Amino acid sequence: MNRDTIRIIQRRLAELGHYSDEIDGIRGDKTHAAVHLAMTGLGADVPADWPEWSEKRQTIGFLQHYCWSKEIDAGRIDGWWGPQTEFAAWALAQLLETGAVPTFRDITPSEANPNGWPDEGGVTAFYGPHGATDWSRPPPKLVKVTSPYPFKIAWNLAQKRSFLWAHERTADSLARVLKEIFRHYGEAEIDRLSINVFSGDYNPRKKRGSAHQWSMHSWGIAYDFDDQNNKLRWGADRARFARPDYEAFWNIWEAEGWVSLGRTENRDWMHVQAARRH
Ligand SMILES: [Zn+2]
Repeated sequence: MNRDTIRIIQRRLAELGHYSDEIDGIRGDKTHAAVHLAMTGLGADVPADWPEWSEKRQTIGFLQHYCWSKEIDAGRIDGWWGPQTEFAAWALAQLLETGAVPTFRDITPSEANPNGWPDEGGVTAFYGPHGATDWSRPPPKLVKVTSPYPFKIAWNLAQKRSFLWAHERTADSLARVLKEIFRHYGEAEIDRLSINVFSGDYNPRKKRGSAHQWSMHSWGIAYDFDDQNNKLRWGADRARFARPDYEAFWNIWEAEGWVSLGRTENRDWMHVQAARRH
């Protein structure tokens, strides 16, 4: 919970007549006392054991209820801050600020393709054969592209990686993309947004749920980032990379012709590829 979120809670408590102190974004005794009063007033709408929760947990529980009262899915009202609550808090802030929660329909991906990336059907003609899962044939020509910011490995965040594997035909473009992301956001913001959470690059395999079609990862022309917060079947209502903070991130990829499945089809928001969909 950041200060903006606590301000939202304090404003709500004030509306309900439980809080008349400063809207300062700090959880002090008066805020906690007001949360206690408000939670008492919610009766059976909140779990019966809430009085045993810590003050912080009660505050989060109150926020979760507030989100639900605006028809925003905050998950179970349990007072724990997880990805669903984080999403709901963001959506609530958007709603209060602009009157609406942004949706996928508000997104217009760029059509630019300055490097002439092929359609998915033409990737073998353009990039050559894909790699094989059993390594029975050589992988495509891969190049290590050094990143200006270090990546953390999604399945072991303590482990760092300073490069991405790229097909030799996409390597220069990838280097420009990474450089521009770094220039735009800087390392602290990249870390805050989990843009540096690496979930996959070259990986010869079939597309998920397909027996025949090879994934674009098999050519070393696709990347996945922060898969935990951008799950395969999640749409823009849940995926973290669909939020406005990531608009510049996607614009940078799209200016080089890369395609986000999230931005074009509202699924697999972790994924970006150097092949066009039609
Ligand atoms: Zn992917």
